[in-house]
Amino acid sequence: MLSLVKTQKGEGFLQLMEMPEPRPGEGEVLLEIKATGICGTDLHVRDDNFPNWPPVILGHEFAGEIVELGPNCKYYKVGERVVAEPHTKACGVCHLCRTGNPQICPDKRSPGWGIHGSFAKYLCMPEHLLHRIPDSVDYDTAAVFEPAANAVHDVIERGRIEPGDFVVIVGPGPIGLLAGMAANAAGARHIVMAGAPPDEGMRLEKARALGFDSVINVAKTDLKELVMDLTHGVGCDMAIDCSGAPRAIAGLPDLCRKKGRIQAIGLTGGRNVDFPWNTCSSKSLDIHFGMSTSYTSWNKTIALVERGLMPVGEVISHRLPLTEWEFAFAEIEAQRALKVILHP
Ligand SMILES: [Zn+2]
Ligand SMILES: [Zn+2]
Repeated sequence: MLSLVKTQKGEGFLQLMEMPEPRPGEGEVLLEIKATGICGTDLHVRDDNFPNWPPVILGHEFAGEIVELGPNCKYYKVGERVVAEPHTKACGVCHLCRTGNPQICPDKRSPGWGIHGSFAKYLCMPEHLLHRIPDSVDYDTAAVFEPAANAVHDVIERGRIEPGDFVVIVGPGPIGLLAGMAANAAGARHIVMAGAPPDEGMRLEKARALGFDSVINVAKTDLKELVMDLTHGVGCDMAIDCSGAPRAIAGLPDLCRKKGRIQAIGLTGGRNVDFPWNTCSSKSLDIHFGMSTSYTSWNKTIALVERGLMPVGEVISHRLPLTEWEFAFAEIEAQRALKVILHP
């Protein structure tokens, strides 16, 4: 089957090539991939600044149909439409696995970097990681469940957003937009979506089209002034970073009210952040980090999408055949694309 493969360690080494079709083992299902999204992680794997075990087929955001069951599958049938949590190879024995956190098990090796992923026609996944796609949701939209579940896990489960919260989101890329949708679904009263000059054009335009309450370019509008004006000097209840930009992160405590919350989602790519610890202390802020997705965040996400409360398919800007992967990667890097869906 035609697959996008990281062929060896080092920068680059991505190649579209034939790979053998996988066979489902014990407790696994064989999926025919119908749609698969490109994530920032795929670019990091290409550049070799994310762990990877080549030769490996890339791709971890996907939706597909079950075409075959391995031995001892109990809960799913051939023909069902599914997505899957990427928590493969979690050990099931360590402290994190035993406390319900296989997503951060040190042994975890996900599809797309640790084991073969979804940039191919077929993929085997363990049955215990599957979730059903509601009938009303198409495959392209379902391929966005994984990043959407990240946003739901971070904003709702980790950040504990409350109905009526005033929320600021910095970084209006796909994850920022999905975080905004999660905040909206959870009953935020006002959402500020803040971007930088490179976000003008596609990202901020999309944020405006999605109807977020205040959509600003921080080079033109002072973010703190805006937040203080709109909250009558109190500050926001929750500030969410989806930019990974050290300067933007360092500015978040100033935006928050006392006893407010900061949620970290964006990754800084190894850069340290010069952070105003004292401000956090004197304001008694809560700061939460999140990594990957919980089982419950997938259930919440799928329910919110089915109910029409999170229009996650709106972040899709391109739908392309797998063979156009190179163009797709370039468009993402040039910020001319949001979420790109590939069809293997
Ligand atoms: Zn991803
Ligand atoms: Zn474990």
